[in-house]
Amino acid sequence: MICVTIGCGSHRRMLEEWRALAEDNVKFVELRLDFLRKEPQLHRLLPDRPTAVLATVRRPEDGGKWRGTEEERLRLLRALIAEGVEYIDLESDVAASIPRFGKTKRIVSYHNMSETPEDLDALREKILATCDPDIVKIAVTPKSINDVFRLIEFEKRANSQRGKPRTLAISMTEMGFFTRVLGKKWGCPYTYASFSKTRTLAPGLPYYKVMRDQYRYDEIDAETEVFGVVADPVQHSLSPLLHNSVFAEQKYNGVYLPFRIPKEDLATFVDRAQGIIGLKGLSVTIPHKTEIIQKLSFLDPAVETIGACNTVVFDGLNRYGYNTDYLAAVHSIEATIVGRPLNPNEPSPLNGLSAMVLGAGGAGKALAYGLHERGARVIIADRNSEKGEQIARWLGCEFCSWEERGGYVVQVLANCTPIGMFPNVDESPMELKYLRGGMYVFDAVYNPETTYLLRMARDKGAKTISGVQMFVGQACLQYKLFTGHKASVTFMRKVTRDALAVTRVRDADEES
Ligand code: NAP
Repeated sequence: MICVTIGCGSHRRMLEEWRALAEDNVKFVELRLDFLRKEPQLHRLLPDRPTAVLATVRRPEDGGKWRGTEEERLRLLRALIAEGVEYIDLESDVAASIPRFGKTKRIVSYHNMSETPEDLDALREKILATCDPDIVKIAVTPKSINDVFRLIEFEKRANSQRGKPRTLAISMTEMGFFTRVLGKKWGCPYTYASFSKTRTLAPGLPYYKVMRDQYRYDEIDAETEVFGVVADPVQHSLSPLLHNSVFAEQKYNGVYLPFRIPKEDLATFVDRAQGIIGLKGLSVTIPHKTEIIQKLSFLDPAVETIGACNTVVFDGLNRYGYNTDYLAAVHSIEATIVGRPLNPNEPSPLNGLSAMVLGAGGAGKALAYGLHERGARVIIADRNSEKGEQIARWLGCEFCSWEERGGYVVQVLANCTPIGMFPNVDESPMELKYLRGGMYVFDAVYNPETTYLLRMARDKGAKTISGVQMFVGQACLQYKLFTGHKASVTFMRKVTRDALAVTRVRDADEES
């Protein structure tokens, strides 16, 4: 069950949001009465309740906004119980002083805004012994992935005890966000989400439509397979939306989550995530594509040569590393040259062509490797000559300085720098005069889909390949590696384009 939290300054607004949630088929709402600017008026809020309600009056030290005295707060909590709210949140240090009454269920909560205490079991035992809870809620602040895993193990232990009140363990950080979704796999009674997409009510609290529609929380069960993207930062990744949309479309019992893992925690995460959360597959992105290689047991040859892995499959004791970036880019360019997807045994149309790759970062190395592997003569241009030359030598390619890049006549041009990416949409890594009809021009940048470079190339009569094609292609290849099933390219492209349109509107709003 998802409990959607409403926190507003006015009674009128709180009631409006509550009714809107009921109309959207939400069944359980938490009213954060501590957010009200004036003294809470229960006669305005509680008659004709549109859904079941959990009433909470949180103190500042527990992350709340209550401005009154503690006596007033305790009086309000008792009044709420007398009014017969379905659930009441009582902090563990006051719960014993507020007796059970009527049908109201007691969620006894413990908050720690600075750390994750060592002995979580002892905390729970004390609450069970002294507070008469129906549900125990422990909300803490993990400092490392080990803390997050400790919290999950605690939640599993607690919920495996039959006949005892169920326990909800909450990680109030972005790093532990995935626990809010996955708890249902091991018997956690419910999860919290926010009414508002933008108003932050508690650290790590997601928007309810994301929890309900993207992560499909209500469908998660013990069998749900777990996948995700590991990155830092991770919140702008489109991959959760993309993979979860395909799971929903294919009715696949899987969930794909964002894992915000800092560099220093990557090794622990990879070593323990399979055992603790049943992780089956991982997309890997900045800054982990190189570091993760050390933790893998089998590497695709491309991963070894490029030195970057963007896909990990966990299978028993083995961890397999792949690079779907390079394959997706090469497949997209080949399909554009021959006008249809290439069959696996067909010779590559890239064989014998000359290609220039702009940039020698992650995407640049992947493209240079893929084009070279298909038999093209590849020249890498990078603004850092020392780094670029070294990479070119390693990959068996040629190198030219950034300033010299216009001096070559090539059939394939691949931009693998961020030049032209939103918001700098009027920039191009190559001047118009160097573009010709008959060329194949690829741009790894996918936001916007049609970059300035691609627009100029089309005007010159060149054929173009967008970063969206690469992005969708690599996601389809990952989906196959993860699940063994084929995802529809058309469906993935639509989801990606829709998401990019939303992202552009949001980013433009943030800029203005
Ligand atoms: P990266 O590892 O940081 O590499 C970027 C490369 O571009 C580096 O060689 C960098 O040089 C160079 N560069 C950056 N700004 C430049 C500038 N103003 N002028 C000249 N060179 C510049 O990044 P990446 O992961 O390869 O990503 C590059 C682009 O590809 C990004 O826009 C990314 O979103 C996109 N991408 C798309 C996909 C997809 O699926 N479509 C996949 C991966 C990446 P320095 O090393 O000197 O900074």
